Amino acid sequence: MSPKIANLKEKVPQNVVGRYYVDFSCIYCDLCVEIAPDIFKEYNREGWAYVFHQPATPEEESRTLGALEACPTGSIGKDGDKAV
Ligand code: SF4
Repeated sequence: MSPKIANLKEKVPQNVVGRYYVDFSCIYCDLCVEIAPDIFKEYNREGWAYVFHQPATPEEESRTLGALEACPTGSIGKDGDKAV
C-alpha cells in the first residue's frame, strides 16, 4: 500500500498561503508542532494542526520537511503553491 499523500483540496482553512499545509486527515497528534513549533500550531477548537508560518530559511525548511516525513497520517503537503 502506498503512503497517503496530503490533498491540497482538503487543506484546513487556517493554513497561511504558501507551499506547506495540513489537510483534514490530521489526527491532532501534535508531532509536527513538537518538531517545528515555528511552523505548525494546534487549532484546538477543531482538533487539527495548521501552518501559521511558511519556512523562510534552510533550517526552517529542514524542520518542516522533518515534520512532513514524521506525520503518521501523511497530512502535511508541500504542493500548496499549485493551483487547485
Ligand atoms: S504530525 Fe500530522 S497528524 Fe500530527 S498534528 Fe501534525 S499534521 Fe496532524
